[in-house]
Amino acid sequence: MIDLLALTDRLSNKVVLGGPLVRSQSSKDLAVVNPATRQKIACIAVCEEPEINKAINGAKIAQQSFKKISAQERGRLVQACGQILKEHKEELALLMSYESGKALRTESRVELSVIADTFSFYGGLALELKGETIPYDPQILSFTMREPVGVVAAIIPWNVPLLLMSMKVAPALVAGNTVVLKPSPEASLVVLRAAELMNQVLPPDTLNVITGDKITGSQIVAHPDIKKVSFTGSVESGREVYKNAAQKLIPVTLELGGKSPMIILEDADLKEAAESAFLGMRFSRQGQSCSASSRFFVHQRLFDDFMTELLKRLDNLVIGDPLDEKTDIGTLISERQYEKVQHYIKMAENDPALSLHFANSLPTEAHLREGLFVLPCLISGLSNNHPICQEEIFGPVAAVLPWTNFDEVIKEANDVPFGLAAGIWTRDLPKALKAVSALDAGFVQVNQYMVFRPSLPFGGFKNSGIGKEASLDAMLEHYTKVKTILINMKG
Ligand code: NAD
Repeated sequence: MIDLLALTDRLSNKVVLGGPLVRSQSSKDLAVVNPATRQKIACIAVCEEPEINKAINGAKIAQQSFKKISAQERGRLVQACGQILKEHKEELALLMSYESGKALRTESRVELSVIADTFSFYGGLALELKGETIPYDPQILSFTMREPVGVVAAIIPWNVPLLLMSMKVAPALVAGNTVVLKPSPEASLVVLRAAELMNQVLPPDTLNVITGDKITGSQIVAHPDIKKVSFTGSVESGREVYKNAAQKLIPVTLELGGKSPMIILEDADLKEAAESAFLGMRFSRQGQSCSASSRFFVHQRLFDDFMTELLKRLDNLVIGDPLDEKTDIGTLISERQYEKVQHYIKMAENDPALSLHFANSLPTEAHLREGLFVLPCLISGLSNNHPICQEEIFGPVAAVLPWTNFDEVIKEANDVPFGLAAGIWTRDLPKALKAVSALDAGFVQVNQYMVFRPSLPFGGFKNSGIGKEASLDAMLEHYTKVKTILINMKG
């Protein structure tokens, strides 16, 4: 039986520094609020420069010996991290749901189930940290070597904290870097606990966790010994991180927001497309997914049937206590996010040209009355240039737009500042291929939508980011630097 109160209390105001979980030296902190009840459950420290310096200096010293461990051994350590997280899967999933309001059965457990795969995948790639020999002159041996970059800052948001942590930490460590990890203030507890567990197998200071807000994050980025930033978050913060990293001329990977289209052609299998739309929009995570298919472009002839099918699925969802096994959808993460989502819903409600279709009903239990629950909502009657179609809402609000002209719909699908993901539903292969090449998005799927594998490069175009995460290429490109060596053997 996991005692969440004792666990959150133990994690309160802590950081992971030099191996163990220790009390932060900072006098500033932020309340952690359970979004299902709006009750304070813990505090996280807002770390300041002395502690940030300690974490980065420790990681810098540790990196000197960590890079000398054989790549294979580093791979084993990373796989052992995956294993220990797997052994604590249920505890971490419960803590994640308690802290972030994500439904335990449909979301947190699912996230935990893919994390071990990421560690296992990258651990297995350790021997792929290869250079090349390059023909130049028979008497000159010319080759490249891959070296780690040094101390990596991994900065992550709250929506899939452990998955995003694994996608940065696993490849960075395998490549011989050490990591200072900065979780979101809204999902720090679960990251602290995961890092505490990983530190049972990693050498001290290989993975330090510093908690705090955006100022803490920007101080980490600015530190002279941070040699690479891997950032996932909003476009606005990504721009700031990019600007600050540019002052030091260090490489940055940016995984940012999205406003992804799903295009349903006239010949699509309607039921499968509706099921995929329902899953792709991540309603079970209250739409809080960067790749959520939040704009459905449905061929005019299928429009009404599609709405019926999608609403049927939404109506069957149980919105409720995130920790309850019956619950399909939990809450939004925060008051700020709640206000933002309500703003878009009100905008639609105040526009007589738009139709809103709400699904299901809010929980009625007394202890959940204050919770940050929102009814999933489909909005129709709008055009693609409406703010609801142009801006990332990051809530359970999707736009449904009818179309008749294939070339026009592709143009509209691309007509947003983002380019993270896209989906197409059709049995017409030439049309699918035409759409695949015309869509300006980094992750495009035909006749399916939700897929994640650590072997598949993931990352967006346009404002959705720079660089890919996941895959061997991502590890080599983002977490190593290439040294070219020429050995003259003449004479
Ligand atoms: P956010 O940008 O507010 O914060 C993300 C992290 O960055 C937090 O840890 C925050 O403290 C830190 N931060 C903020 N400003 C910073 C700065 N100037 N310097 C250094 N660190 C800074 O984002 P959020 O609200 O936590 O997350 C939601 C956003 O994340 C959405 O836009 C979503 O699309 C995006 N996201 C993208 C992906 C992807 O793979 N593309 C995945 C998940 C979430």
